[in-house]
Amino acid sequence: MKGRLRDHADMGFDPPSLPQDLVDYLDRPAVSVSQKKGVLPQNLAPEKTASREKRAWEQTSLEDLRTHVGDCTRCGLHKGRTNLVFGEGDPNARLVFIGEGPGYDEDREGRPFVGKSGKLLTKIIEDGMGLSRDQVYICNVVKCRPPNNRDPEDKEVRICLPFLIQQIRIIHPEVICVLGRIAAQALFGKGFRITADRGQWRVCEGIPTMTTFHPAYLLRYPNTKRETWEDIKQVMQKLGLEVKKDA
Ligand code: SF4
Repeated sequence: MKGRLRDHADMGFDPPSLPQDLVDYLDRPAVSVSQKKGVLPQNLAPEKTASREKRAWEQTSLEDLRTHVGDCTRCGLHKGRTNLVFGEGDPNARLVFIGEGPGYDEDREGRPFVGKSGKLLTKIIEDGMGLSRDQVYICNVVKCRPPNNRDPEDKEVRICLPFLIQQIRIIHPEVICVLGRIAAQALFGKGFRITADRGQWRVCEGIPTMTTFHPAYLLRYPNTKRETWEDIKQVMQKLGLEVKKDA
């Protein structure tokens, strides 16, 4: 039609006056072949039908989210795992601890922080904070053990992170305590430096978040105990817990 109007103008005829909505229609971007075939770009794709699988952020309870994660094969870490380690603790916890990923013992048991580092974390929670493990929630950024305890790769973190974010949204704790550089970088970006940036409040999903050293780092460098305790004391103060003089 546009072409016919152009031909008329070339032949010296005045163009007919067209209603504005028809002008707009003619000026719309051309529809590509891929769109005609139904291969729409992501941002133009119509909402899928009601029968589609629900996404992580649509799960409203930890049980539903765990069911949604299922026997996950979304990233390569599933190949080497014995058990997927989803997380454990009080679904209404005021405090959530987040580590980077399961290690050997966690992979065997299917529970977070149960090895040597886990025992130290339990000591911090029980002896230092005066809480029990049952009163907090403990989980990791990636839910499957990276081979030989290597750091999870960026792609693995990216794929698994929505599960953690949804865990945080469902529990909606008053405070989050992030353990170590890898977990902090997953939440706050690669620029996070554990030695310089730990001990300062940040916000994750609207929740005050403190990062401290990973218990494994604490075991390797016991002289970081003082700094860790300072960070934990800040967490306790934020929660209104009584802070003992020493732990
Ligand atoms: S690490 Fe996360 S995304 Fe990867 S397989 Fe395990 S649960 Fe799935």
